[in-house]
Amino acid sequence: MNNLINGLHHITALASDAQKNVDFYVGVLGLRMVKKTINFDAPDVYHLYYGDETGSPGSILTFFPYAGLTRGRRGGGQLTYSAFSIPTASLSYWMDRLVQFGVPYSGPYQRFNETYLRFEDFDGMGVELVANSNDLRPGWDNGKIPAEYSIRGFYTATLNEFNIDRTVSLLTDVMQHKLIAEEQDLFRFEALNGGPGAYVDVMRSPKDVRALQGAGSVHHIAFATDSDESQLEIREQLWSAGYNPTGVLDRNYFHSIYYREPGGILFEIATNPPGFAVDETVAELGSALKLPEWYEPRRAKIEAELPVISALAK
Ligand code: ZN
Repeated sequence: MNNLINGLHHITALASDAQKNVDFYVGVLGLRMVKKTINFDAPDVYHLYYGDETGSPGSILTFFPYAGLTRGRRGGGQLTYSAFSIPTASLSYWMDRLVQFGVPYSGPYQRFNETYLRFEDFDGMGVELVANSNDLRPGWDNGKIPAEYSIRGFYTATLNEFNIDRTVSLLTDVMQHKLIAEEQDLFRFEALNGGPGAYVDVMRSPKDVRALQGAGSVHHIAFATDSDESQLEIREQLWSAGYNPTGVLDRNYFHSIYYREPGGILFEIATNPPGFAVDETVAELGSALKLPEWYEPRRAKIEAELPVISALAK
């Protein structure tokens, strides 16, 4: 079987304030802003990308910060918790750090023999830190968080579903995931590559409230594929299985197809290439406002309408 899906690529969510978003993900969580661009469909709104030093697939959390956007509501038919991977030995460092920044957390909890903390960003977005010793990805030393404690990338993401059956069959029959663990109503799936960043957890929650989209809610989850060719292959298989993927869209840093899974969550398959160093060097990532070519003629107006943000964070 060709390996068509490697694991997570990115998660994209909505926020209500660009600077507060930077302050949380760069300032508190120590992620790197790897790209500052705009929503290609709404150029008066930023599209901010956070990740590891180079913006590796599987480390990227992105936001559309719509100023003043009303909060969403966590619930069924939604990705409810985005979980980052941290080294086991860093757990107490992170508990101290969250307290220091006034971020209330709950836990540590146990799940599938791993330990995790749970908290929210200022918009109520659900975030977890999973302490584990299986992650070989390097951490980024941003000067605030020593590399030995820093986030390695995503660990998993939790999808709350009223009914899991058809979502499970999409993951296992079409998307090359395997069920590797279950605990009460929680089911863990793993993509072929395996390991931290290649998991997705499906929570059976028939009595959940229905999720509402707004600030602090996830817009979609993207899975990684190696190439344009493997993307077309998985697209073909989605069609054959009765799904309705979009055509390939050029997102500058990757190419994307989108489709809705049976529980209503928007899925994307994104190519690993070309990556974030396509329009600035790795050292410069996130430092300048990058626009797709077709918006360059309108740069002055676009820049004037966007709020000023500092990527250095407080
Ligand atoms: Zn996306």
